[in-house]
Amino acid sequence: MTEPRKLIAGNWKMHGLASSVAELDAIIAGLPDGADVSLHPPLTLLSAFAARADGRIVIGAQDLSPGVFGARTGDVSAAMLVDAGARAVIVGHSERRAFYGETDAQVRAKAEAARAEGLLAIVCVGETEAERDAGAALAVIAAQIAGSLPRGSGSDIAVAYEPIWAVGSGRTPSLGEIAQVHAAIRARVGRSTRILYGGSVKPANAATILAVANVDGALVGGASLTAAQFLPIAEAGARGAR
Ligand code: PEP
Repeated sequence: MTEPRKLIAGNWKMHGLASSVAELDAIIAGLPDGADVSLHPPLTLLSAFAARADGRIVIGAQDLSPGVFGARTGDVSAAMLVDAGARAVIVGHSERRAFYGETDAQVRAKAEAARAEGLLAIVCVGETEAERDAGAALAVIAAQIAGSLPRGSGSDIAVAYEPIWAVGSGRTPSLGEIAQVHAAIRARVGRSTRILYGGSVKPANAATILAVANVDGALVGGASLTAAQFLPIAEAGARGAR
């Protein structure tokens, strides 16, 4: 069976102003063949980035409302994201689960709303350091998968395994630990659902992480903000395409 191309997704979080279009241009100019690449700027830049990218790179959002339309001040629906040019959306990022109390059920509702509008939903799961130290990582992730993923997930969903203690910390699990978690997730999702690793992916460690079994791509935070850091990771993804 043909392996899917690696997906390298860049999460800009709450970074970026209109002037950041220069960085988008630099990323697009250096994009390698052989990997799928998405960039998730803040909502304020979504439409401008999508117009500028013109299909050469997928532009995505970082969150969405599960609702369709109506009295939800501040919320943005899947249809609005598509209208603005988005083709993908991150849901259930650990920062949203931690800072806004998003539950598995809410994450699932968001993923279902995204899917209904044809957006690729990148659903994030991952354990805290205390959960890993207690030997509970696999159980926590299994519960998140069971609760957060829409039923019958296929290529319209990607799962991002992001150990919370590795996000933005410069620390990563061992390759064996990544392999163990990705195998456990693979046992719960079909081959067409890509499983990304996220948490301090940098140019120096991308190739080895992307070579681990069942690692179908990476969700990249800090290192996605500049072409200088993001492009070597995209190239590692392209080289890792089997
Ligand atoms: C993230 O934002 O999802 C992330 C993995 O961040 P970083 O790469 O900076 O750890």
